[in-house]
Amino acid sequence: MTQDILVVAEHLKGSFEDTTFELLAVARKVAAQTGGRIVVALIGGEPSMCSELGAAGKVVNVTGEAVVNFNPESHGAALDAVFEAVKPRMTMVGYTSMGMDLASTLAVKKEIPHAAFCVEVDVSGTINAVSQLYGGKMNVTSDLGEGPCIVSMLPGTASPDDGRVSGNPPVEQIEVPETDGKVRFSRLIEAESGDVDITAKEVLVAVGRGIGGKDDIEVAEELAEALDAAVAGSRPLIDAGWLPKSRQVGKSGLKVAPKVYIALGISGAPEHLEGMKSSGTIIAINTDKNAPIFAVAHYGLNEDLFDVCEELTEAINER
Ligand SMILES: Cc1cc2nc3c(=O)[nH]c(=O)nc-3n(C[C@H](O)[C@H](O)[C@H](O)COP(=O)(O)OP(=O)(O)OC[C@H]3O[C@@H](n4cnc5c(N)ncnc54)[C@H](O)[C@@H]3O)c2cc1C
Repeated sequence: MTQDILVVAEHLKGSFEDTTFELLAVARKVAAQTGGRIVVALIGGEPSMCSELGAAGKVVNVTGEAVVNFNPESHGAALDAVFEAVKPRMTMVGYTSMGMDLASTLAVKKEIPHAAFCVEVDVSGTINAVSQLYGGKMNVTSDLGEGPCIVSMLPGTASPDDGRVSGNPPVEQIEVPETDGKVRFSRLIEAESGDVDITAKEVLVAVGRGIGGKDDIEVAEELAEALDAAVAGSRPLIDAGWLPKSRQVGKSGLKVAPKVYIALGISGAPEHLEGMKSSGTIIAINTDKNAPIFAVAHYGLNEDLFDVCEELTEAINER
């Protein structure tokens, strides 16, 4: 085992996902503690993309037809090959659909510990990973020993800007290993853009289960109209059919980063935060003063959303 930190890059159609740079931001702090290098596993990416990976001391680029599109089987085999080449003390993946597949597969293959839902990692002694559980209500620290180990970081736990460095790290090319080929990539289904593109709006009024019922969404619509905003929602509202899927923010919905995000009656579960944490200014209105949304909010009102919406809409319309 080396003291290196292996970061698994995520990318789609030639562009890195923010998760990659968030992982690099955390890896920079961790590598400073271990004294090792940051090595990036770039599976299926173009070598030209490496110029964005200046935070890394080295990139291992796995190429081949089988890894052009994400496939848990061939990407799993590719990551295994990179792991064997690097022998890292810690492997970091994003807690994303792809990361969940890769981290658990590698943990089982290598018989090494894996901590998921992580928001912090400390390697000053043994490897300690802090996981956020129960919708953000509880943080649990796991001691993963000396390593090797895997941590899956929750998206949004670091600023991607802290990991985005241009440069020319040395690149090692590896051919993708042969697999049984039981899993085949069929096609990429793009997220539907829907009636309103909530990813393009500067202001969003997002409603959660605290709104109570479908008819009550009207108060949010009135506030949104006053602000020239769009109404978005947490997943339970979409599952209940109160808003279309195109309005869902979060892990299984859309990622948004408006200038202003007003969260009405949204608790702030990690799956929701994943989709909106990068918003410029977050204003949360919630009757529960311990709601996790207040941990990411720039402004918080521990009030009933109906009272606030009514007063706010009136005040804006008056102006
Ligand atoms: C694999 C997976 C994917 C997921 N993907 C998503 C996703 O993409 N997006 C998403 O949002 N969730 C997602 N979830 C669900 C997520 O875990 C939460 O269950 C969900 O975000 C909770 O929605 P909520 O905050 O609206 O509801 P709740 O957690 O029920 O919170 C309601 C809040 O409203 C407050 N409240 C009640 N009445 C009032 C009032 N009158 N005024 C003010 N506040 C009030 C309460 O205090 C509470 O905090 C996913 C879950 C899983 C397992």
